[in-house]
Amino acid sequence: MQLNHIANQSLPSASGRLIDVIDPSDGQVFDAIQRSDASDIDAAVQAARRCLDGAWGRLSAAERGRLLMRLSHKVGAHAEELALLEQRDCGKPVKQARADAAALARYFEFYAGSCDKLHGQTIPYQDGYSVFTWREPHGVTGHVIPWNYPMQIFGRSVGGALAAGNVCVVKPAEDACLSLLRVAQFATELGFPAGAINIVTGYGNEVGDALARHAGVDHISFTGSPGVGTLIQQVAAERHCPVTLELGGKSPQIVFADADIDAVLPTVINAIVQNAGQTCSAGSRLLVEQSIYEPLLERLGQAFARLRAGPAALDLDLGPLIRQSQQERVAAFLADAYADGVAVVAQGQVVTEAPATGFYQAPVLLRDVPVAHRLAQEEVFGPVLAAMAFRDEDHAVEIANATRFGLVTGVWTADGARQFRMARRVRSGQVFVNNYGAGGGVELPFGGVKSSGYGREKGFEALYGFTTLKTVAVRHG
Ligand code: NAD
Repeated sequence: MQLNHIANQSLPSASGRLIDVIDPSDGQVFDAIQRSDASDIDAAVQAARRCLDGAWGRLSAAERGRLLMRLSHKVGAHAEELALLEQRDCGKPVKQARADAAALARYFEFYAGSCDKLHGQTIPYQDGYSVFTWREPHGVTGHVIPWNYPMQIFGRSVGGALAAGNVCVVKPAEDACLSLLRVAQFATELGFPAGAINIVTGYGNEVGDALARHAGVDHISFTGSPGVGTLIQQVAAERHCPVTLELGGKSPQIVFADADIDAVLPTVINAIVQNAGQTCSAGSRLLVEQSIYEPLLERLGQAFARLRAGPAALDLDLGPLIRQSQQERVAAFLADAYADGVAVVAQGQVVTEAPATGFYQAPVLLRDVPVAHRLAQEEVFGPVLAAMAFRDEDHAVEIANATRFGLVTGVWTADGARQFRMARRVRSGQVFVNNYGAGGGVELPFGGVKSSGYGREKGFEALYGFTTLKTVAVRHG
């Protein structure tokens, strides 16, 4: 049974209630987490505040950096343990879980190095004044984490917040707590002051809501669905608490006729199959120039037919989806599309070793999906790729921008001028040209426009969001 992590102690929730932990590969219960409530959040926020006003607040930036670097090394040394926990908890094929553990170590490494490089400015002003700015931490930061990449999102969010001098209260998704609770134990073993990192598990509408409402929380970093993002924003607005929102996407990959198709195909597949399509930045729309639409779909269809989903331990192309309701949600999207006459180019298979009680979905490639169709507009959060053809550059931009989202865009073309034009014209927080995702890019600011959210995490830029700027004007005559 797992316990909350508050002030470096492992504690049961005040109510003593539990939530089952289910292995998505076979649908069986194998552990339990605490079903916490507002009183547990209150204890965590108070512990965080004491830490901020005490040991954590007294650390120099360089000392914070050393602690974070030690945590990076510890995560690296225990990467296999974390990967295996994540494989069971989230149904991730083990090579994907290993990549997440490596990314977590890298986030802590990056932010460790940034602590003593975050500084303000001096500003030329009128004669007789000296003016400068300080970057100060918000204080107690709340972090609401989704289940799809718990380690990566914890790393970028908590890593950045700690580097900037904040203390953290974390609410992981109820489906994905185990790896994060283990990392918090590592921090305790390494001598992080009690209260710097607190983790309270439970349901979103109970503990997530309590965290967002708590008057002692000075900043909220939320990664999750647009609907819950709106709720968090509304709650935070009541006390004017700053919020960073990392919401969903319906990201297009735009392929022009002059693209290197051998490079396009594996990248397009990986961008929708990775984590069984449960990725906010999944390349879930494929926009192809008319003249190569048919040959490209033919080759892509052949590759899709070879994809295999199965138990995470088998380390195939895809594992299961996170839970039964997610499996049902994806199935409902597909049923709607089929009822509307959307055609399937190809689909992969679920291997026979997959238990019937697991939450599997074979990857599906659909064609000629109308731009206004739900499948081309809404996040499926499953391995479903919607292909459509475009006539020319203007048409590609029009389709690419025709959703409420704007997180990531992939552009594939050999034409240098068009690369820049397209990068300018698409509305999204990141654009990748002749690649997609740049291999993760811990250093690269990440976030959206429109309903994909606002604020940036990752990279040095995130540190500005985790601080508030104070301007000091000294009049000295
Ligand atoms: P979700 O919004 O249901 O849950 C996210 C987190 O919010 C969980 O920890 C959940 O417990 C909590 N939560 C739920 N209701 C809450 C409430 N009323 N108040 C406070 N917290 C609450 O989303 P999900 O199902 O966990 O994740 C899938 C969604 O997240 C997708 O839309 C996906 O695109 C998005 N996502 C975005 C990013 C990004 O960086 N942009 C990354 C991962 C996932």
